[in-house]
Amino acid sequence: MSITPMFKRSAPSSETRRVLVTGGSGFIGSHLCERLLEGGHEVVCVDNFFTGRRDNVMHLLDHRKFELMRHDVTVPLHVEVDQIYNLACPASPIHYQRDPIQTVKTSVMGAMNMLGLANRLKAKILQASTSEVYGDPYVHPQVESYWGNVNPIGPRACYDEGKRCAETLFFAYKQQHQLPIKIVRIFNTYGPRMQPDDGRVVSNFIIQALTNQPITLFGDGEQTRSFCYVDDLVEGLMRTMDRTADDVSGPVNLGNPGEFTIRALAETVIALTGSRSRLVREPLPVDDPRQRRPDISLAKQLIDWEPTVALRDGLLKTITYFDGLLAQGEQPVRAVR
Ligand code: NAD
Ligand code: UDP
Repeated sequence: MSITPMFKRSAPSSETRRVLVTGGSGFIGSHLCERLLEGGHEVVCVDNFFTGRRDNVMHLLDHRKFELMRHDVTVPLHVEVDQIYNLACPASPIHYQRDPIQTVKTSVMGAMNMLGLANRLKAKILQASTSEVYGDPYVHPQVESYWGNVNPIGPRACYDEGKRCAETLFFAYKQQHQLPIKIVRIFNTYGPRMQPDDGRVVSNFIIQALTNQPITLFGDGEQTRSFCYVDDLVEGLMRTMDRTADDVSGPVNLGNPGEFTIRALAETVIALTGSRSRLVREPLPVDDPRQRRPDISLAKQLIDWEPTVALRDGLLKTITYFDGLLAQGEQPVRAVR
């Protein structure tokens, strides 16, 4: 299926840079590494493989401009780079709730270590923040000026408050050291290389549908999310890093403003896979946000960006990916909350 982009992809840069991507072997990070290499840049990919897979970057290992380092960002890092994308952090509720202390450490100490590195190098640094900083929002759609509604001691707090504190640290480094920082608030992103066992809704539903297992609808399924295809998101990350002036430090929402109920997502996945799966209701997780949709006016204005991939098209690509994994013998694992 061909998808006509509304914008051209960022042209390869005439200026080659050495770029650090923390969390580079994760879902989004691996796509970002690929795009940076396509643009002619050198990439240092740092990951502790907590949730990332070496397989995600296996195809890049022989690239002469690609370097993979096993390293935990809670420990200081000494490398020489021009730009830093700080993506290291588990992103799915199952994974970030498995070891909440490590999640806070990764967000907070990881941000401090990467900011310290950026400050020494006077490098531009971009933080992968999240729509979770808005918590269970009362303002809809979410605008960057909204301070959010986050439970500071709930099961999602290790991630939400960790990311909020990281934003605070980024601004502190800008104020105290005039560091050129960028913060993007990423809304639910999906696509190939999501982990089959991380319990996120898109991967769960697709695997359940492909294997004709019951589709697990948490709560009444009327809660909403907005789903952004990974290629669109990566384009937004690179534009934010490269196109915003150094006095524009965000935060900037990056996500697809199309809003769907989780029930509608389940029905779409069933239709696209031709599955025999039926819907089963399961309890809604604690503090599960009821609605989520980004206002992306700021991203449009600052980086001339908006998503181009419709949910149906992105889902088809993702279904093809998971179908391939299952055909290779990947066992469908029930992700338990
Ligand atoms: P992911 O879990 O696939 O990737 C995260 C990567 O970080 C993994 O490779 C993991 O091994 C690595 N990592 C975790 N802790 C680390 C540590 N201490 N040191 C080094 N590496 C570490 O998740 P993703 O979906 O690719 O998310 C990437 C980033 O984007 C995360 O910061 C996440 O919070 C943010 N984000 C993602 C989404 C989404 O929908 N995917 C939404 C909002 C924000
Ligand atoms: N969800 C669901 N069934 C699943 C997994 C998730 O109904 O098997 C729901 C979940 O309760 C939430 C939404 O889908 O309302 C998105 O969940 P996900 O974990 O993907 O992301 P997040 O809650 O962090 O946005």
